[in-house]
Amino acid sequence: MTTIIDGKSLAEKIRSQIAQEISQLKAKGVYPGLTFILVGENPASQIYVKNKKAACDEVGIENFLEKLPATVSEKNLLAKIEALNKNPKVHGILVQLPLPKQIDTKKMLAAISPKKDVDGLHPENMGKLALKLPGLKPCTPQGVIALIESTGVSVAGKNACVVGRSDIVGLPTALLLLHQNATVTICHSRTKDLKEKIAAADILIAAIGKEKFIQGDWIKKGAVVIDVGIHRLANGKICGDCDFETASQRAAFITPVPGGVGPMTIAMLLKNTVHAAKENS
Ligand code: NDP
Repeated sequence: MTTIIDGKSLAEKIRSQIAQEISQLKAKGVYPGLTFILVGENPASQIYVKNKKAACDEVGIENFLEKLPATVSEKNLLAKIEALNKNPKVHGILVQLPLPKQIDTKKMLAAISPKKDVDGLHPENMGKLALKLPGLKPCTPQGVIALIESTGVSVAGKNACVVGRSDIVGLPTALLLLHQNATVTICHSRTKDLKEKIAAADILIAAIGKEKFIQGDWIKKGAVVIDVGIHRLANGKICGDCDFETASQRAAFITPVPGGVGPMTIAMLLKNTVHAAKENS
């Protein structure tokens, strides 16, 4: 029997714990604050920021939006980040990606104070993650791990296959799984025999960015499948990187899209912001 992992309700539980923690912090005079930097008019980015802001409002994180035109220069964006680094009311800074072509994304992420890097993408925090040192960790990978933990399946000794090696999702997720003693295979666009790698996986993380790419009959029976992909189809429906209908017939546990990883990513952003506020107040 397949269990659909309910990311929405797990995220709600986490949000309510965070809200309680924030009330306690406020009683001590600490008011967690998060600033979003939104560059340009990308509709998906606008929706992501809107949803993240609503989640902040719900749990009591003070949140601010800095909107900049798509034509903004690197110099002006850097100046904005620098000002926020110095603002004591701001514990977290989130630059919504993607950025326009004229901007060097890595340079911008590196300009954020590592202490305020609630997306966990600063080179210092990525280095700490690799070395298993405490630091702010990327949100989606943390969400993936929490979803696996919610199944009760132990990761240690299992074959985990992460399809995708991006800085934001694939690579940090693979590191977190490795830290939990999984035997990790990382696949990407140059991987040969992808189906074989997937067939050997007790735990499969799909972070490819291609709709319904992974088919059910590629998946090992009884696997835990976490689908990170998000795609809006022509009919308006949302789907993931796995073909859910066939994949759910093979997996023991699987996340739906929507309602799986997405809400957990936001919950982990809130968690990171509270952590940053506690550490730096
Ligand atoms: P990227 O495009 O940055 O990375 C995609 C990865 O998939 C790359 O490593 C690429 O390989 C690999 N890949 C592409 N094609 C293939 C293939 N045919 N076979 C094997 N590997 C392949 O995407 P992201 O990591 O940023 O995002 C992945 C998905 O997750 C997207 O759908 C995105 O929208 C979604 N997402 C969802 C979030 C959420 O909160 N639910 C948060 C962030 C992302 P190579 O490196 O060789 O190019």
